[in-house]
Amino acid sequence: MADLESFREDVRQWLAANAPKSLVGMTGGDLEGNWGGRKATYPNPDMKRWLELCAARGFTAPEWPREYGGGGLSREETKVLRQELARAKLPPPLIGFGLTMIGPTLLMFGDEEQKKEHLPKICRGEIRWCQGYSEPGAGSDLAGLQTRAVLDGDHYILNGQKIWTSYADLCDWQFCLVRTDPNAKKQEGISFILFDMETPGVSVKPIKLISGSSPFCETFLTDVRVPVKNVVSKVNNGWTVAKALLAHERTMIADAFGSAAGGGKSRGFTALARDYLDFEDGTLADASLRHRIAQVEMDARAFLLTTQRARDAAKAGHAPGTESSIFKVYGTELNQRRLEVMLSIAGPQALGWEGAGFDERELDLTRQWLRSRANTIEGGTSEVQLNIIAKRVLGLPD
Ligand SMILES: Cc1cc2nc3c(=O)[nH]c(=O)nc-3n(C[C@H](O)[C@H](O)[C@H](O)COP(=O)(O)OP(=O)(O)OC[C@H]3O[C@@H](n4cnc5c(N)ncnc54)[C@H](O)[C@@H]3O)c2cc1C
Repeated sequence: MADLESFREDVRQWLAANAPKSLVGMTGGDLEGNWGGRKATYPNPDMKRWLELCAARGFTAPEWPREYGGGGLSREETKVLRQELARAKLPPPLIGFGLTMIGPTLLMFGDEEQKKEHLPKICRGEIRWCQGYSEPGAGSDLAGLQTRAVLDGDHYILNGQKIWTSYADLCDWQFCLVRTDPNAKKQEGISFILFDMETPGVSVKPIKLISGSSPFCETFLTDVRVPVKNVVSKVNNGWTVAKALLAHERTMIADAFGSAAGGGKSRGFTALARDYLDFEDGTLADASLRHRIAQVEMDARAFLLTTQRARDAAKAGHAPGTESSIFKVYGTELNQRRLEVMLSIAGPQALGWEGAGFDERELDLTRQWLRSRANTIEGGTSEVQLNIIAKRVLGLPD
């Protein structure tokens, strides 16, 4: 305990001496922040400096082993670091699928060469990763994927199409599921492979949404030559790797959207309510809305404590299991409830898309609410998570 307190003191002093002042207040609790990568731009150069300082200290991936660019910190020390970053109101130096998905998966399944090649670049924010799982005919039924990989000497030749590849146009490498044995049972003929997005034959087409933005892409693979050494784990063992990565992804989504609600966002209720609603003797006059706010506040707090307890109980290097499906369903539905309540508070002012009649907070609220509809789809839909919970947690028959 004394060690932990001296570690806390070290971190505090280091943050006071090094953290750029211009970043204070940017807590980066949601999916906005520094994703790094070859195409990253830094309107505020302090963000890049912050990344470099933290990477050099091992603070971008605090729990990963030092030999791969991590900080080699214990779970308790990592918790202290997070607390101190939050206390100092500093954003995480780096976010992204490298840290939350492919990195932890490579630590479990990668060979030494793969770990040495990819993990330090993730820690330094040099390479941004995207996920090539979904296909036009394979979303919930992911094991039905058809992208083919055919062996040709020491390379695989990839042909097929991925869809909904988030930010593929901004990413440098992709972790991808391919079919290496079309004759095996569907889960048993899949491999997990890594490739550079600049490899000839890879093309990316952003999907334009009704909002005008393009967070997703289609990825087309035409005779893409990928070295055999880029297969993670054994050939045809990709389903096992894919499931482990999905558990990391679901935990990340639950953390990003659910724990964020308990970690502070839901407290925005009071400030918002004061601007839009009537209060009587310091109490919100609308009793039914008061009840809904209190319920979401309590649920968010309980959820935050539960996920923290689960994290504390897990050993370092432990891969999340089926509990990730429970957290994913609850955390994402909680986030949707939180935004529904905020919408009820701001009323029609939270239903604007553009125009002088709405201020920045209102426009942001509309966008957050619309974005939250995707929470129960991305990383596997709620229905699919409920199937997993029924089968794997409760042991119910198919
Ligand atoms: C914001 C966002 C980001 C994403 N990013 C990525 C990414 O980076 N990479 C990637 O590969 N994919 C990504 N996806 C795709 C995502 O993984 C799929 O959308 C998801 O798995 C669902 O697949 P689908 O869209 O094909 O829907 P479908 O599988 O066609 O499902 C349609 C509906 O049927 C229901 N359904 C299907 N099967 C069952 C069943 N057995 N029991 C009960 N109900 C069922 C589903 O719940 C859903 O409501 C992203 C999606 C979103 C929304």
